[in-house]
Amino acid sequence: ASTWSTVPQGPPAILGITEAFKADKFDKKINLGVGAYRDDKGKPYVLPSVREAERKVVGDKLNKEYAGITGIAEFPALAAKLAYGADSPALDRIAITQSISGTGALRIGAAFLQRFYSGDKKIFIPTPSWANHKAVFADAGLNVQQYRYYNKDTIGLDFEGMVADLEAAPQGSAFLFHACAHNPTGVDPTPEQWKEISRIVKKQSHFAFFDMAYQGFASGNTDKDAFAVRHFVEEGHEIALCQSFAKNMGLYGERVGAFSLVCADVAEKKRVESQLKILIRPLYSNPPIHGARIATEILSNPKLYQKWLGEVKEMADRIITMRALLKDNLKKLGSKHDWSHITNQIGIRLAEAIYKVKG
Ligand code: PLP
Repeated sequence: ASTWSTVPQGPPAILGITEAFKADKFDKKINLGVGAYRDDKGKPYVLPSVREAERKVVGDKLNKEYAGITGIAEFPALAAKLAYGADSPALDRIAITQSISGTGALRIGAAFLQRFYSGDKKIFIPTPSWANHKAVFADAGLNVQQYRYYNKDTIGLDFEGMVADLEAAPQGSAFLFHACAHNPTGVDPTPEQWKEISRIVKKQSHFAFFDMAYQGFASGNTDKDAFAVRHFVEEGHEIALCQSFAKNMGLYGERVGAFSLVCADVAEKKRVESQLKILIRPLYSNPPIHGARIATEILSNPKLYQKWLGEVKEMADRIITMRALLKDNLKKLGSKHDWSHITNQIGIRLAEAIYKVKG
């Protein structure tokens, strides 16, 4: 028998909606389940600020030497500033590393929890959550549990269920939160609800692990979308944070991200960073440089940064407009259904909304 003859066939098409989309013969079809921004012609979009930054990066004729284990020199601090706020008093005690986009950040965070988080190596993720969360945490050796999040009947947040599950979990449990634009539901807690969640997390000595894959994409404003993250830090939580620049800079395939841990003080940050390096080194040695150089250029050049903020807003506004148009047109077509969730929800995915049409 061949060496791999016992390897079983995996389940088909993890990207179910995309597969169904490809198979559909309708010429006006639109894939509303995809996690990538498209322009008015349905084509992939490269941000003008990214084009400009890339021209600068290429023009500088930099060498192709390895980055450090935690990334190219300037990038991590700039990523931290974007997420936590340029005036965050916590900045000097944040251990941070560049990562292979958001997924890589999640994997580093999962491995760090597995290695160093006291307790029972468990993490609670929302029901539902991005399909990869469970696999990332489970493959890193964590026991993945779920907490209530989405209420199918109201097509909104199951806040009572979520609070009850936060209260019922053993003290000191790790909880994954989507910082904004929850995937796949597009349903986020309000600022008031986040404050309540923060209070309960603190009361229960839980650990908040944030996945922020859409900073700027939800509201069009990167500060507003970082509300939950910044509020938790203000309230004294030592959070974990995964950042992705896939969506907000449209750097999908460049794989630009960051993983950070807010520490108690500078000494602790140094210890944590040393362990992040020990953890990353055998995984992939060091991250790719090109995309991080583009992001660095945007985040460090005031003119480009302003331009980019404008483009993020444009993308978010267009998404918001598309949602409003869809709702209006469904009404015009005579649908009596209550479609308010289409505009109440946030982000690029409308799969849930459309699923409801069929369902
Ligand atoms: N987290 C969430 C919630 C996501 O939706 C995604 C991508 O769709 C990611 C993380 C990771 O994306 P990437 O690895 O491309 O940054």
